[in-house]
Amino acid sequence: MTSSLSDVHGSPPEPTAEGPPAPTPGLTAAFDPERFHDGAVEIAGRLTSHLRDRSVRGLDLLDPAVLLKAARDLMTPERRRVADFDADRVNRIVDLYTGTGIPVHSPGYMGRQFSGVVPLAGLIDMVGSVVNQPSSFYEAGQLPNVAERLMAEELNRFIGWDRDRFAMVTTSGGSLANLTALLAARDRAFPQIWTRGAAGLPGPPAIAVSEEAHYSVTRAAGVLGIGERQIVRLPVDHAGRIRADLAGKVLQEATRRGLRLFCLVASAGTTSMGAFDPLEDLAAVAHRHGLWLHVDGAHGASLLLSDRHRDRLRGIERADSLTWDAHKMLFMPAPCTLLFYRDGAAARGAFRQRASYVFDEEPDIYRAYDSADKTLECTKRPMIMPLWTVWSVYGPALFAQKIDRLCAVARQAYRMIDAEPDFAVAHEPESNILCFRYLPDGLEPATTHRLQLEIRNRIRSGGRFFISKVDIDGVAALRVVVMNHLIDAGHLAMLITEIRDVGRRVLGASATARPGHRNGSPS
Ligand SMILES: *Cc1c(COP(=O)(O)O)cnc(C)c1O
Repeated sequence: MTSSLSDVHGSPPEPTAEGPPAPTPGLTAAFDPERFHDGAVEIAGRLTSHLRDRSVRGLDLLDPAVLLKAARDLMTPERRRVADFDADRVNRIVDLYTGTGIPVHSPGYMGRQFSGVVPLAGLIDMVGSVVNQPSSFYEAGQLPNVAERLMAEELNRFIGWDRDRFAMVTTSGGSLANLTALLAARDRAFPQIWTRGAAGLPGPPAIAVSEEAHYSVTRAAGVLGIGERQIVRLPVDHAGRIRADLAGKVLQEATRRGLRLFCLVASAGTTSMGAFDPLEDLAAVAHRHGLWLHVDGAHGASLLLSDRHRDRLRGIERADSLTWDAHKMLFMPAPCTLLFYRDGAAARGAFRQRASYVFDEEPDIYRAYDSADKTLECTKRPMIMPLWTVWSVYGPALFAQKIDRLCAVARQAYRMIDAEPDFAVAHEPESNILCFRYLPDGLEPATTHRLQLEIRNRIRSGGRFFISKVDIDGVAALRVVVMNHLIDAGHLAMLITEIRDVGRRVLGASATARPGHRNGSPS
């Protein structure tokens, strides 16, 4: 029989003829609602302190080996029985988690496109994790599926598509949305492909994208088997926008070479500079060439909510699909992406499959709310719930006000940096992204690239600001993404001073290191 030792350790007793044994005390305790309550209160307190900290700080980037050790030390050594609950261990895990992130709620954070979330969204996300209602099927996520409908209607008012025809599906990220839209586009052009595969194609399928397109678009082309050579690059202007006047000629040339173009991908807010392609003109180009127009608005679609900035997306009503990340400019926990189709029937073209265990033969009132026929994902987070809840509680003005503020601060940063003689802005900001360089007099062009990289890295290790870098025309630039509405002119001035100080130190150090300059200051 089982040894007394394993009984002491709470191993489950062998099943008996009477049926399975009762759950062990350890198993029961892990699901104890009272424990949940105490933990929730404790964790809410810690998160509240985290939110209260508005000090200006950047990322504390740890050596992964150090973090690995710290994390490993928090793991219970107990393997045989369910370990006793250790509140202290949980608290230390929460502290390590909050303490090692990019401080998205600090004004020092200006580096990435995800935002400090609306705190209410975090609470609803927790509800979603506890009740666990995956959302591809109405049956499993009733409210999430209804909320998707409502949110789709709300946001489509800003897009302006026919309410009886359009469709929306949530995806885990903009990359997946771009892939899904390209699938639908390809299916419209080559409906035989689902059954016959590549063998059914009349020629090599091709897409046209901006030189500035996000890498997920070209990656999607790779996944779809389109092949790099069938990606037609459209030239951009100095600000990173597709030259609609040149696009037609490039497309004609590609068609002449035998490519079967089926989709033109435009960006509403490029990742690097936040540039908005001229959608109205590109819609005309796409129409002339019989192409599906997909708009990658992962970053910038949210500007539709702002009276002041909506105009950047003029022409969106003529697009066929739109990727819209709510975890960027709608300030939601990641991921939460909404993929819109002007024609809902086209959405179903992406996935023509049938599976008896999930897709019922007989349509019914419930099935009409399923979204699994429009997405690669089966089990999926009910990611709409934080967005729908925040929208329901505060209304659209919350989003519009924050967006307006972020764009205004980016414009202010532009003016301030443009006024500095030793800085050069790379473009006028169209949204909340601004790229620029530290370029003091006499800087050799060959040094420019390395200098920006070095500044960026040193600013990051300095731990006060977190900014990013991007290559523009092959030369690195510093990049600020204003995602925090608390950033003001004072913070921008601090950042400029810090960049200048760091830049001077880098240049000073390299001057002293150069042979023949040995008599310079050693520091
Ligand atoms: C961020 C971004 C993406 C990728 O979206 P994820 O949600 O990170 O997968 C795609 N396109 C553009 C323009 C983006 O800015």
